[in-house]
Amino acid sequence: MKIFTACLGTETHTGGPLPTDTRAFEETYLVRGGNHPEAINMFGVPLVIWAEAARARGWDVVESLCTFATPSGLVVRRTHEDFRDEILADLEAALPVDAVMLSLHGAMVAHGYDDCEGDLVSRIRGLVGPDVLIGAEFDLHCHISRQFAEDLTALVIYKEYPHTDFAERAQDLWRIIEATLDGRIKPHMAVHDCRMVGVFHTTREPMRGFVDRMTELEATDGVLSISLGHGFPWGDVAEEGARIVVVTDARPDVGRDLAERLGREFWDLRHEITPRYLEMEDAITRALTAPGSPIVLADMSDNPGGGAPGDSTAIPLRLFRRGIGMAAVGGIWDPVAASICCGAGEGAEFPLRLGGKTGPTSGEPMDLRVRVNTVLRDHYVESLGGSKRYMGDAAAITADGIDFVVHTARCQNSNPAFFTDFGIDITEKKILVVKSMQHFYGNYAPVAAEIIYTAAPGTLVWDFKDFPYKKLARPVWPLDDDPWATNAERPW
Ligand SMILES: [Zn+2]
Repeated sequence: MKIFTACLGTETHTGGPLPTDTRAFEETYLVRGGNHPEAINMFGVPLVIWAEAARARGWDVVESLCTFATPSGLVVRRTHEDFRDEILADLEAALPVDAVMLSLHGAMVAHGYDDCEGDLVSRIRGLVGPDVLIGAEFDLHCHISRQFAEDLTALVIYKEYPHTDFAERAQDLWRIIEATLDGRIKPHMAVHDCRMVGVFHTTREPMRGFVDRMTELEATDGVLSISLGHGFPWGDVAEEGARIVVVTDARPDVGRDLAERLGREFWDLRHEITPRYLEMEDAITRALTAPGSPIVLADMSDNPGGGAPGDSTAIPLRLFRRGIGMAAVGGIWDPVAASICCGAGEGAEFPLRLGGKTGPTSGEPMDLRVRVNTVLRDHYVESLGGSKRYMGDAAAITADGIDFVVHTARCQNSNPAFFTDFGIDITEKKILVVKSMQHFYGNYAPVAAEIIYTAAPGTLVWDFKDFPYKKLARPVWPLDDDPWATNAERPW
């Protein structure tokens, strides 16, 4: 047997202020031929798992491109086409193969391509013909197009948000592909459109119970895998929205009925599972009055993991104006300021214009007198599940009692190492401003006295009724109160 693997992914905020170019992929993660470094990105992990599993069976593995870019605005057309064509050329050179296994994000949108994954997979299907298996693993913030699902043998999606289960889901997909190659099963995929857009945290009830129930239902009645694609609501494409995916062993009726039943259950939970965010001023006041420390203020609006730049000054400016010290902000993406700080070196003091540079949603820049405390060159910071994220050159600086971690490469804060690597003692801080929507949660919950989700002004609006959708197919909740009340059909 011969297995061909590749990874091409990013999550596109279609209104994001920064284009995603080739350099953005190179900066975040780009490996060819399976030469993964120790500091592996989570999207590279499935390829390593599949290669080890295949070789354990004595099967051949050809690993093509593996690249991922920190979420941002629309992908440059040429970037998508070049990477796609590189994977297709590698595949053509590797033919014949028995299975193609892909680690993808599922919400990559390029100029001219609303469905990058669908574009890639349909061309792969064209190359390999109808009988070769194609399996894909998706981040749960994905768009699942009909075309994509039709070209695929099996899709397995992360179940957890924060995404702590990317390795387990890679193993799930391997088991399905392996058993199919062995002739033991014949996968069939059923997809149900929930007609919902939103963000859903799996760490809290009733979402937690829903995810556990999906897991319990697997391995019953020929069910091989159950996934919930949450969708990525800041990606304005027709087929955005939550979907249930059920893969069965040749039981189309079981799959369809179960997908629909779970989809209805999920729909019934919609009000309870929608996160609540405090307005910025109230969130700061609550953080100050809450007992204990540190209090984590999660700045969801400027989450680089959702396509925001990561240089918004909204919260730190309010902290300065309210005279609040004993805070640390992680981080501010500002390549110019970070380079100046790293160049000046530890102990240097000087005036610095910091943040607020990318666009109107970044707020006003802060003019500060800063001291450089720590400089780390070419730094990788601990992220989720043992994976790492690249921060570039980075520095910890202090201004008026507030510490900032300033970095050159865009990177989400999902681990207290984002502060502690720089010698910042988080137990001494009353407030930790963390630019993340939910990935921070698992690693910060054990050390935080309280976690407060806030919707400060920024790139990621939380009320999707305010998002200027142009392509999203209707009817869909919450833009339409009851999308099930009409006979109008969404693309699914
Ligand atoms: Zn995600």
